[in-house]
Amino acid sequence: MSGHPAEPWRVKMVEPLRATTREYREQAIRAAGWNPCLLRSEDVYVDLFTDSGTNAMSDRQWSALMRGDEAYAGARSFYVLEEAVRTHYGYEHVIPVHQGRGGENILSRCLLRPGTHVAGNMYFPSTRAHQELNGATFHDVIIDEAHDPDDEHPFKGNVDLGKLKVLIDAVGAGTIPYLSIAATVNMAGGQPISVANLTEVAELAHHHGIPVFLDTARAVENAWFVKQREPGWADRSITDILRALCAPTDGAVMSAKKDSLANIGGWIGLRDPELAEQARGLVLLYEGLHTYGGMAGRDMEAIAQGITESVDEDHISARIAQVEYLGRRLHTAGVPIIRPVGGHCVCVDATATLPHIPRTQFTAQTLAAAVYLDAGIRGVERGGVSAGRDPRTGENRFPPLEFLRLAIPRRVYTQSHIDLVADSVIRVHRHRDRITSGLAFAYEPSHLRFFQARFAPVRGTSIWD
Ligand SMILES: *Cc1c(COP(=O)(O)O)cnc(C)c1O
Repeated sequence: MSGHPAEPWRVKMVEPLRATTREYREQAIRAAGWNPCLLRSEDVYVDLFTDSGTNAMSDRQWSALMRGDEAYAGARSFYVLEEAVRTHYGYEHVIPVHQGRGGENILSRCLLRPGTHVAGNMYFPSTRAHQELNGATFHDVIIDEAHDPDDEHPFKGNVDLGKLKVLIDAVGAGTIPYLSIAATVNMAGGQPISVANLTEVAELAHHHGIPVFLDTARAVENAWFVKQREPGWADRSITDILRALCAPTDGAVMSAKKDSLANIGGWIGLRDPELAEQARGLVLLYEGLHTYGGMAGRDMEAIAQGITESVDEDHISARIAQVEYLGRRLHTAGVPIIRPVGGHCVCVDATATLPHIPRTQFTAQTLAAAVYLDAGIRGVERGGVSAGRDPRTGENRFPPLEFLRLAIPRRVYTQSHIDLVADSVIRVHRHRDRITSGLAFAYEPSHLRFFQARFAPVRGTSIWD
């Protein structure tokens, strides 16, 4: 008995997967510089690298593609997207961008200057990279519980208001152009923020004249956790809760590749007409005209349809239950994972799994390579490699959490795939003593280094004896 609902969809089209041998995978990961990111996708059996843009679209989304209006200016599809965002997220000004980071670039360029400060509930790599490129310093004001993999706090994405007040007092509200709040917090393992906390954060920020921008990539998943866990919300619809999360904020940056069940796209949502005008001006330079922002008309149609499907209660509960199921299987078998299980991923605590591999040898990167070797499953490192170097000191940053993230694409894999993943990760954990070497950089890119970095085993020719 699986203990979770059967998938609320049936398969209409299939994409074959190719099984590989252990020898083949050993060669493939070596050729990829021990970085699963550099593997070819056809060499991967179950791809849990990301839930971003890897969603299976519905028959209705594929039909919507045919309605795409590819006019350069004023396309009908733009107004369809605008209406869907206004209805579900509640932002008046909707500016399309090619994907989330396009929006981060625009917002950062509009508001940040050298010497400014941005605070948020833990960093996200592309978000912080754009903030730092524009001269700002990012400050993490998430609650301490978020950094403890075993803490069962129901809202590990919450902001510590005390930390936020200390920061405002220290640097002055005038040097903080905005707060950058995420729902859910990806880097903490998909942990939600409560409506109450977000509302209080916005009140404090607004009291100091600081606007709040929400990263809504997984705000629907966040809404589901609010419904389950936050007093007073159990009887409200996901649609209502999503609106309640957005209501106290001044705007949002959205990657439609997550919640919205699309393969590409994003938008910026704003309330301030002047800021919206400034943002549209920059979108013209960096993305495309302000009524397509780097997307095809059909992409905007697929996102609009995806937004309405994303808030469907059967969809969202089955989606999160599948993630929870994988987490439960690993936890029951004694694999150390971040608790509680988040909305889009299961995170295996790498330092607890491989205590004999020091963090200077990139423990989670090593675990990611080992999990690929075992059965062709691809996850991603979230730890020292992802954190990069401090731009001022040039030193490696080692965040408190060092984990292997297994992100589950929406509506893509079945129960048997998830069981295969659980079996493999449990096997790697049982054989952890045979993972005898960590990794060192063979090539280190300067930005978002986890994507293109290459490594070599520190000792011997493999990580596994
Ligand atoms: C994916 C993501 C982004 C960036 O969006 P892209 O569409 O990948 O550019 C920003 N924030 C969060 C929380 C994300 O998960």
